[in-house]
Amino acid sequence: MCTTPHPVAQDVFSRYLEKNVGDPGLLPGTIAREAEAIQELGALLSHPAAFGYIVSGGTEANILALWAAKERAKKNGREVIVSEAAHFSFDKAARLLDLELIKVPLTGDYTIDTRAARARITSRTIALIGIAGSTPLGTVDPVTELAALASEHDLYLHVDAAFGGFVIPFARELGRRVAAFDFSIPKVDSITIDPHKMGMSVIPSGGILFRDRKLAESIKVPVPYLAGGETALATIVGTRSGASVLAVWALIRHLGREGYRATVRQCLELTDYLRDRIRAVPSLTLLTDPVLNIVGVASTLVPPEELARRLRAYGWAVSLFSTCLLYTSPSPRDRTRSRMPSSA
Ligand code: PLP
Repeated sequence: MCTTPHPVAQDVFSRYLEKNVGDPGLLPGTIAREAEAIQELGALLSHPAAFGYIVSGGTEANILALWAAKERAKKNGREVIVSEAAHFSFDKAARLLDLELIKVPLTGDYTIDTRAARARITSRTIALIGIAGSTPLGTVDPVTELAALASEHDLYLHVDAAFGGFVIPFARELGRRVAAFDFSIPKVDSITIDPHKMGMSVIPSGGILFRDRKLAESIKVPVPYLAGGETALATIVGTRSGASVLAVWALIRHLGREGYRATVRQCLELTDYLRDRIRAVPSLTLLTDPVLNIVGVASTLVPPEELARRLRAYGWAVSLFSTCLLYTSPSPRDRTRSRMPSSA
């Protein structure tokens, strides 16, 4: 998920190690750069006026989103609907926030089964989550359909584009067929997008963007002793890396849309190549035609752990997702598929 950071991000990061944006009064310049970086990310996600923060990663971003969802709902319910492909950060968020995750099945294309999601909405439901670039397979949920459900039932809608946020906009520009997922869909309330994944910046750098400033305000905690006693902060961490904020800001300016597009083009071409080579190996099964630059493969010959171990010897690091990929959905949208004995 995380590449070697771009040299520009490394250089900027290493020059500002002491900067702590957890004390906004001390660093107005860095705070202004953060706002500009958020504006750039907002523009990428079809909403330049979005409000948010550069945080420690996708986990923190997802926690903040569910916190905002909980605040919005007041005390009316605590259930959050997400698919089986959700990143485990949602399990953490739910436990921390005393929410209940309702996990619904995947369809044959490994995206959330929106009919199953609809069936699980109750008076206790407060939010729906769409995934734009799932961790196992890079699949993109039908966020437009989720938005319709969210509007109908007045639910919060968060999109986890931690991985896909820096890929999908460019993949679409390059003519790839990828579903809409961002603030162009009116009901989307917040989006996670991680500069330390396909944004090619340094660890730690995640991004949380809210459509409406009020959502971000709702999770702020007053801090009486910093910035002249006039500040309130929303992030989970207190002391926060200004170096990563500046690295994100600088890299976005350095690469521009063209730079990111060129990287995504190369990644997708490599993905196509890998897909075609896997198709040529009889003992390997491609789980789905890759949507983004993540490829899911099952082996009929070698157990996944063994496959991962052997690939590691060649310098390949693969993730194991047996439980998720073993799932077969009862949904009518599902294509008939035999249960996979093993998958990596
Ligand atoms: N969301 C998705 C879709 C992810 O793939 C990941 C990490 O791989 C996360 C959230 C969590 O991100 P982080 O590890 O930066 O906290």
